[in-house]
Amino acid sequence: MEDGNGVRMVHGYDPVQRRVLCGVSQQVSSTKHASGVTCPTCRELLRVARSAPAGAHDARDL
Ligand SMILES: [Zn+2]
Repeated sequence: MEDGNGVRMVHGYDPVQRRVLCGVSQQVSSTKHASGVTCPTCRELLRVARSAPAGAHDARDL
């Protein structure tokens, strides 16, 4: 998906939940590499995730 400026929006992809972090359709560009994410919402979610307490996401692996 592109905006009017032709800038390609790249969302962060969550391999655990198998969806993009901000919850938009999967029919968009996404990456598991935080450095390649351009979506502001996804970037914020990535930042929060990194600061979460260790083990916070382990329980949702299964
Ligand atoms: Zn996003």
